[in-house]
Amino acid sequence: MVKQTTASSPLLQVEDLGKTFGQKPPVQAVRGVNFSIAQGQTFGLVGESGSGKSTTGRLVLRLLEPSAGRVLFRGNDLGKLGKKELRQERRHMQMIFQDPYGSLNRWMSIRETLEEPLLVHGLLDPAGRKQRVETLLNEVGLPKAALDKYPHEFSGGQRQRIAIARALVTEPELIVADEPVSALDVSVQAQVLNLLLNLQESHKMTLLFISHDLRVVEFMCDQIAVMYLGQIMELGPRKAIYRTPQHPYTRALLDSIPGRGKKELPRLKGEIPSPSAIPPGCPFNTRCPLAFDRCFREQPALYELSPGHVSACHLAEAEGQPQGRPNNIAMSPGTGA
Ligand code: SF4
Repeated sequence: MVKQTTASSPLLQVEDLGKTFGQKPPVQAVRGVNFSIAQGQTFGLVGESGSGKSTTGRLVLRLLEPSAGRVLFRGNDLGKLGKKELRQERRHMQMIFQDPYGSLNRWMSIRETLEEPLLVHGLLDPAGRKQRVETLLNEVGLPKAALDKYPHEFSGGQRQRIAIARALVTEPELIVADEPVSALDVSVQAQVLNLLLNLQESHKMTLLFISHDLRVVEFMCDQIAVMYLGQIMELGPRKAIYRTPQHPYTRALLDSIPGRGKKELPRLKGEIPSPSAIPPGCPFNTRCPLAFDRCFREQPALYELSPGHVSACHLAEAEGQPQGRPNNIAMSPGTGA
């Protein structure tokens, strides 16, 4: 039987989540990832391409099968649900993809596109569906006349508005938004981000927001996890991550933002290593300007530096409280900035 969330429990809990692709050699895309998201919160996953953030988003929605760990959504272990129960839960968790054109069926009108999820989940009668679709289209700022058009008749920003309406049509509790504005012109990015924030508030949604862009994540998110080679390097409330970043990777990423004051660390060099050849010790040791002997031998534990702010770096050992295994993170609601 499918459970409902209570006010005190997080909407989403991710525990020791892992995903390995292939065997020769295995690609370790996600490793030992832990976090939780309280209802109504926006949680950001940030990192370079290849850091495992998009794979984590797909594992959360069970669009991919995890190789390890579990995902609890509304208190239900998604891995233990039968097909029918998982389908029921999918109504409450939806995704917004990076490419709005690719995520919309070019042969379906906007009306058909928006009604389809309601039909799949058997929601509402024809009059109710019509009403829901028209209301949502209005909420995303498109005229009613758009309903009888097709995706190619819209701009990129308008298509992303349609994709957002489609994700919202079943009234989900959780939206995973994977780089939702990175394919859009800079001039419309802010409009779409503001729209998402407004809809989140009016629909009381919880958002898992994935982006490589630290400025966008700062604008959108209450809690932020910085990922590198499939692991969480630092996690904390927005204020802590942006004002007092601890992990050298986070600091280097922040330093790379144009116009962001004095640079603390040398410019980040080289590429993120392949997830099929993760270096021993700290995964960041091949690029870290502060690396020392121990970093090449021993994987750092996770240290809590202030409530809800953790960093996986040996340098945090002196100040932080060890949190056990790397990436074993327990977040409590209400620690956002
Ligand atoms: Fe750099 Fe060492 Fe810290 Fe890793 S553990 S981030 S290599 S200082």
